[in-house]
Amino acid sequence: MKAWQSFETQLAPFAVKSLISKGRRHAEREDPNRSPFARDRDRIVHATSFRRLEYKTQVFVNHEGDLFRTRLTHSMEVAQIARTLARNLRLNEDLIEAIALSHDLGHTPFGHAGQDALNECMRPFGGFEHNLQSLRIVDELEERYGAFNGLNLTYETREGILKHCSAVNAQKLGELGERFLRGEQPSLEAQLTNIADAIAYSNHDIDDGLRSKILTIEGMREVPIFARSHDEVRAQYPSLSGHREVLETVRRMISVMVTDLTRMTQHRIQVLGIQHVADVRLAPPLAGFSDELKEQMKALKSYLFVNLYRQYQVLRMSRKAQNIIQDLFEVFMQDPRLMPPDYLVDKDEAQTEWLQARRVADYIAGMTDRYAMKEHRRIFALGVME
Ligand code: MG
Repeated sequence: MKAWQSFETQLAPFAVKSLISKGRRHAEREDPNRSPFARDRDRIVHATSFRRLEYKTQVFVNHEGDLFRTRLTHSMEVAQIARTLARNLRLNEDLIEAIALSHDLGHTPFGHAGQDALNECMRPFGGFEHNLQSLRIVDELEERYGAFNGLNLTYETREGILKHCSAVNAQKLGELGERFLRGEQPSLEAQLTNIADAIAYSNHDIDDGLRSKILTIEGMREVPIFARSHDEVRAQYPSLSGHREVLETVRRMISVMVTDLTRMTQHRIQVLGIQHVADVRLAPPLAGFSDELKEQMKALKSYLFVNLYRQYQVLRMSRKAQNIIQDLFEVFMQDPRLMPPDYLVDKDEAQTEWLQARRVADYIAGMTDRYAMKEHRRIFALGVME
């Protein structure tokens, strides 16, 4: 038995294991050294779209400061939290890491403002959704292998990437879309990554928000879950101040959330007698916080919404991002020849306009923040000839 196979025998009965995997879209020989899910994770780490995350906005535009989170560091923090959850519940760490590292691959430049703007542009052509785009990247757009397009990931990693999906889109996605039509849940690894995402951004946005001075500690103390951890820090280190005080608080908050989530998920697994991945799929969502923590998370999110994401400094950046994306979309639709030739659709293909719009969206969504700004300058700035 290989090392990774014996590792999988120690997992919980309801963990996803390679033996029960629904496999890859294109059959491949097994890797002698790695489980199929470890191989997925490694393919993601080597993918071009993964490296682009370094220069994509999370909340703060990449060039605003060197210390703010980017999509890359966000994805790594999600993976770190997700792995802890998987280890504690004896779930498949390779799989959860693969899902976490790929969950934001489809994001446009400029964070949610970019996604909203591109979705608006794409409205007549079926819309744009970053979650579906992540799947499109790993299934089609990455070009690395001789035998197939995309990364040819396992069903279980792809299922984890596709967090949500409309019924219309689900019908087009074959086996992967079926669970949405049947109202079934994904694996626990997928469910937990989704919540690890929320834990990661809720906490690092506090850190970044305070660092940027848009948030203040006094203001944050209105949020009970922050105030409680902050009180603990003050009691333990009365003379601590500045950013260390913030970081000591945030690390305690992450711990409170991870502990509650682990305990409650374990509790639901026991109460419902979950024995197998098949039970996980048919049960109601098993991964989740206690009611008390759910309330506290809600309070935190709404505080951040009003006091960070809707502050003028962030809104200005969002408006600029919208303009850049709208301009690029319009000009590429008017004349697709302005894009690199790979993105041109054959004129004789049926539904040319829809296909062309999708390729324009692929091109724009793949851009980093600074590449989008550069493209905009190249095309629109008078006096710039590059
Ligand atoms: Mg995320």
